[in-house]
Amino acid sequence: MSSDPDCIFCKIVTGDLPATIVAQDERTISFMDIAPATRGHALVIPRRHVRDLWEIEPDELAAVMLSAQQLAVRVRDRLGADGVNLINACGPQAWQTVFHFHCHVIPRYQGDPLRLPWVPMAGDLDEIAAAARELQ
Ligand code: AMP
Ligand code: ZN
Repeated sequence: MSSDPDCIFCKIVTGDLPATIVAQDERTISFMDIAPATRGHALVIPRRHVRDLWEIEPDELAAVMLSAQQLAVRVRDRLGADGVNLINACGPQAWQTVFHFHCHVIPRYQGDPLRLPWVPMAGDLDEIAAAARELQ
């Protein structure tokens, strides 16, 4: 399916829903997030409807990541960001709420209020190795 009539991001692609677009090319559109985590928080989406990281085609994913990198450069050069987080949520358990693939481009500023969503602590080495064996 190239467009889903029930998808809000597809409606942004077709122009049926307003969005503040900051960049676009043949395959992707980048627009401001309506609930920004920090100043300049934007989303990059493929024009074609695709649900998530598990479904997106590799070349489409590459196009989205390229646009995200270009935006990351802009938030540094134009907004003065000190860093950037690229975030993708795949599946409700991973916090995905809009089921049209998107990459968050979140500018980071010294002293901003964002925090890691996990507490880093030493892991169980046997369990790390066991998980690795299943992944290899
Ligand atoms: P996620 O939770 O990773 O699926 O992210 C969905 C993001 O889409 C959230 O950060 C929302 O604030 C954002 N969002 C939802 N609707 C719109 C919209 N109409 N225009 C711009 N951003 C939106
Ligand atoms: Zn869609």
